[in-house]
Amino acid sequence: MPQGDMTKFESQGDMTECEPQAPRFICGGEVNNTKTKWRGIVEEYRSFLPIAETDKVITLLEGATPLVPAPKLSERVHANVFLKYEGLNPTGSFKDRGMTMAITNAYNQGAKAVICASTGNTSASAAAYAARAGLGCIVLIPQGHIALGKLAQALIHGATVLQLKGNFDQALAIVRELGDKAPVTIVNSVNPYRIEGQKTGAFEIVDALGQAPDFHFIPVGNAGNITAYWKGYKEYRDRNLSTKLPKMCGFQAQGAAPIVLGYPVENPETVASAIRIGNPASWQSALDARSESDGMIESVHDQEILEAYRFLASQESVFCEPASAASVAGLLKVGVPSGSNVVCVLTGHGLKDPDIAISQIEPPRVVEASFQAVMAELDL
Ligand SMILES: *Cc1c(COP(=O)(O)O)cnc(C)c1O
Repeated sequence: MPQGDMTKFESQGDMTECEPQAPRFICGGEVNNTKTKWRGIVEEYRSFLPIAETDKVITLLEGATPLVPAPKLSERVHANVFLKYEGLNPTGSFKDRGMTMAITNAYNQGAKAVICASTGNTSASAAAYAARAGLGCIVLIPQGHIALGKLAQALIHGATVLQLKGNFDQALAIVRELGDKAPVTIVNSVNPYRIEGQKTGAFEIVDALGQAPDFHFIPVGNAGNITAYWKGYKEYRDRNLSTKLPKMCGFQAQGAAPIVLGYPVENPETVASAIRIGNPASWQSALDARSESDGMIESVHDQEILEAYRFLASQESVFCEPASAASVAGLLKVGVPSGSNVVCVLTGHGLKDPDIAISQIEPPRVVEASFQAVMAELDL
């Protein structure tokens, strides 16, 4: 037996030395999810990013997230659907793509501290990357409206966290003023380096599929990510790395849908706390992405979000947070032409917000610690 294991080990070593070039596949076929020697999004996509040769890169090897085929969802909407599972980034959300760029820039500019307003994931990411760079990190969050996992992350990574008696939009307004008047660098998505980093999600999708999809579904909160993906798709097309562009389909939660309504929402409300935003910073560029791509920005009800959330976990085995499921809820709501190639971005990990998961399921039954009692409860 040990002999056999050894052989296996050796042959793996040989393979690493050859490093065959992974093939690129056409959409509908296999997906290239190789992670071999991944160096993080800044090094991998350096020629697309505003970064100086001499800059020290602050990275946690973010990116290279899998594009998971979704057979059950594909069957439901009669299309080829893939899930870009951004919950597998180092701090559990896509925010890490932008944060490696924003913190790298802040560090190389000699900043001492960074600051952000956050619905949760930005603060988790900022705290982690700032700690990595040895920078201070200040976070303003809306009191009582951030998922417990995200708060825990910001604190454990050593950020100074202030809970504001207000909402995200008020927090961002204060952060902007502090950025003007105090020696701190803002790392919200109003920082253009964030958008630059986040556009690499589009690059990875095209790298994996060999082409841009027909439709790109995405949740919309502050609207930085839809802006970033659209920018990424256009840049890849401009360098002839794809020949087409997807229709961008953004989805807000019904109780926090300023772009759909056409005016700011003063008291946004939704179960999807990561998109509980009433006055998006990237409002105009989200509208541009919609019109340039001939796409849409619509809203989905909390019940539709939660239905998609449970469907993804129970049928596709992909656990995302509620806000992420807005993309899939949108796909289920509006549909696509039969046979389309579709990517839905799942922006954050389900473990960020266990309270919502628990609220969606029956609590487990309690039984006596005996064989008979356990057997009696089971349908075997
Ligand atoms: C930040 C975030 C969003 C919203 O992204 P925007 O760029 O603000 O539109 C959606 N889902 C999750 C999990 C997030 O953390």
